[in-house]
Amino acid sequence: MKIVMKFGGTSVADAERVRRCAKLIKDRAAEDRVVAIVSAMDGMTEELLALADAAETANHPAMNARLKEIRRRHEEAAKQLSQPDAVAPLLGQLDQLVLGISMVGEVTPRSRDAVVSFGERLSAPLFRRALELEGLKARAFTGQEVGLVTDEKFGEAEPLMELSLYQIADALKGPLEAGEVPVVTGFIAATQHGVTTTIGRGGSDYTATIVGAALKADEVWIWSDVDGLMTADPRIVPGARLLERIRFIEAIEMGLFGAKSMHPRALEPAADRKIPVRMKNTFNAGGAGTLIIDDGTRPNEIIRSVLLVKDAGLINITGAVMMGRPGTAARILGLLGAQGINVRMIILSVSEGGISLAVNGPQLAQARATLEANLLRSGEARQIQVVEKVAIVAVIGSYMRGHPGTAGRVFAAMGAKGINIMAIAQGSSELSISFIVKGDDGPEAVRALHEEFLGK
Ligand code: ASP
Ligand code: MG
Repeated sequence: MKIVMKFGGTSVADAERVRRCAKLIKDRAAEDRVVAIVSAMDGMTEELLALADAAETANHPAMNARLKEIRRRHEEAAKQLSQPDAVAPLLGQLDQLVLGISMVGEVTPRSRDAVVSFGERLSAPLFRRALELEGLKARAFTGQEVGLVTDEKFGEAEPLMELSLYQIADALKGPLEAGEVPVVTGFIAATQHGVTTTIGRGGSDYTATIVGAALKADEVWIWSDVDGLMTADPRIVPGARLLERIRFIEAIEMGLFGAKSMHPRALEPAADRKIPVRMKNTFNAGGAGTLIIDDGTRPNEIIRSVLLVKDAGLINITGAVMMGRPGTAARILGLLGAQGINVRMIILSVSEGGISLAVNGPQLAQARATLEANLLRSGEARQIQVVEKVAIVAVIGSYMRGHPGTAGRVFAAMGAKGINIMAIAQGSSELSISFIVKGDDGPEAVRALHEEFLGK
């Protein structure tokens, strides 16, 4: 088999953990060809972002403290992997880059990506070294070196897919044939002119599925510190269970509701090519994990998972002027989009001349201000009403499609608990039903639905 294995930040947080990952690869390397995709050490991306901010304001004490900490963690790991100078040149480059930024006193999206890229750049040689200590032949590559190219939207760059797939297959062919384990930095790439970019937070998952697609891999394994996807958050539902198999569309839908902070597009390259994705826990390697696959197996349960988005805000926009006027929804979403506000749910009622929107709690005030400034003054809307501290509850399952009675069961369960529902949305794909309740009712709503569909 050809397997692409991605290791998340907590899995590579120090030398001991990196060695554990290397052993996991060694277990498979005799029979399978493995490519490793590595994240930055846990917390390192945040550290580097803060470093870039400190450089922008030429805050030298803060800069030096951060650089010291970054240096300490990587040098310590390098020492423990008995290759003390493994990261020395990279650390030197980072020092210079940050000094340069502090002298100009400006950090652009482009230079921020350059700084942030050091998290993954520094992980790769350490990981390579750990594989070597296991007796494997390994070689480290940056995203750019394997040919992952993107557009120039720094911070959130979009891979140029066809070209990248072609180049990656070409770059990794030789090493794989030579029996080496390629170690590729996740998350970072480059423009076609060779300028470093990053593909969005959590992007290493995305790198892994892109590399999997390029190599026509048999499977992509996402190693992290969780066992996989669950029927609910076990902190809310003590009886929540691991989902051992789930369809791609269901996993993607769960990701949209924040089930696990995976890059939103990470599953696409694998789903398009039907490459199964396994989620596994490096701290519980023997566990079954979750297998994301479309093989037509029908689960026993119609609802696979119950999710909760805590801390959301609800906005109700009403006013007869808007009624029946084409383009109103586009106008509202356009205003919010321009402010970078993520709309989690939108409900357009037929009769009342109203539109309701749910946004993340921290963005509620900004959303309200934007809508008031634009819609009230121009008379496009009469009233904008805001409800703070609401929760979005969602049930997810692809087989509810065309299966009457699911919504009835959902809302009957809420009625039985005396939970009031403030707004409801269900897309026509019938993959999920989501609705809004008072924030305090959220956990109880999730427990009631889990019991109804998935057992205690
Ligand atoms: N290091 C990057 C981040 O923390 C990418 C990743 O871990 O997937 O967002
Ligand atoms: Mg990370």
